[in-house]
Amino acid sequence: MPDRPAPRLGRATLAIHGAREAHAPGDAVVEPLVQSVNHLQALGTGEGLRYTRYGNTPNAERVQRRIAMLEGAERSLLLSSGMGATACALFALLEPGDHLVSSRYIYGGTHRLFFEEFVRVGITITLVDPFDQAAIAAAIRPETKVIFLESPVNPTCRVLDIRPTAALATAHGITLVVDSTFASPINFRPIEQGAHVTIESATKYLNGHHDVLMGVVSGTSAYIERVLQKEMLWGQTPDPFAVWLLERGLKTLAVRVERSNASALAIAEWASTHPAFRRVHHPGLPTHPDHAVAKATLDGFGGMLGLELAGGGPAADRFLQRLQLVTHAPSLGGVDTLVSEPRFTSHSKMTSEERAAIGIPDGFLRFSIGLEAIDDLIADLTQALA
Ligand SMILES: *Cc1c(COP(=O)(O)O)cnc(C)c1O
Repeated sequence: MPDRPAPRLGRATLAIHGAREAHAPGDAVVEPLVQSVNHLQALGTGEGLRYTRYGNTPNAERVQRRIAMLEGAERSLLLSSGMGATACALFALLEPGDHLVSSRYIYGGTHRLFFEEFVRVGITITLVDPFDQAAIAAAIRPETKVIFLESPVNPTCRVLDIRPTAALATAHGITLVVDSTFASPINFRPIEQGAHVTIESATKYLNGHHDVLMGVVSGTSAYIERVLQKEMLWGQTPDPFAVWLLERGLKTLAVRVERSNASALAIAEWASTHPAFRRVHHPGLPTHPDHAVAKATLDGFGGMLGLELAGGGPAADRFLQRLQLVTHAPSLGGVDTLVSEPRFTSHSKMTSEERAAIGIPDGFLRFSIGLEAIDDLIADLTQALA
């Protein structure tokens, strides 16, 4: 049966109805959870075998089709974490002896995956400054198979223009893979801008409620089939219940992201006039180095925000202790507003000086703005500065 809504529907609609089959009177409004690992098999054929690890349970098939519609991709595949998605997405593209060009501004877990696992199996890696197009071009070798970018960039909220890199990759027959977790497909769809593959940690905006760990890879059908083979062999498939929860979270994706976009911008504007902050990092501010790129390539500036306290580390300690509503916790992209400190999380392996050199001095706080009333958030930040 063909999927009911056509992809020309708005993303807010697709997030609710995409890939749903037509309902009949008496059907449940909410799609049922089919919590079964195995399914009855037809006699006399190996076709149509359904098994949870094969990524083809009823819940997974529907949500995968829905996310593909949201990403503007031929096909998407759910995996049991964002890291599982990154690992299987790249193992489907890289063989021993191959070369990977990666942005140096990537998620800490991705960096470890590259330098602790990929190099061990004979994949070589060159890290580049992703804002330097000439450096990316210069890093390409005959054996380069993948260029890997992450945008927006954690935690400085820098925004890459992926279009020239996509053109470069395509011209060389190289696959451009973009981790767009920080944006969600409401704000940014890399495939529409020339990327071949998109990765997201669905743990973040796609689910959005701090209660499911999952990842998703999107690309062509032929490529996703190769990722599926890795997922099946490495056992990276999520459980139907987690997928059912993700489907529930996805229904509100558009309103959640739009609200976070608006609140993050309001806080960024408020903080830019407050003397306690030395710098505010948000691409929606005209002072942000990538404001023009963000305006041209994103549908929303995002719910992530960096605030640099003028008083450095000691001021950050005091501020965090006084916050009441804003929760000190890792991760991002959910209903609760969260704050974390790169000096103790993503960048804890660097010295103070090294962090300062890449624009993350002590006193830098990363916020993921959730869905609380904006006045309450600003009141909480204000009282914590007093
Ligand atoms: C969280 C995150 C990941 C890893 O996702 P998990 O679901 O925690 O495995 C990868 N990339 C980015 C940008 C992330 O923020």
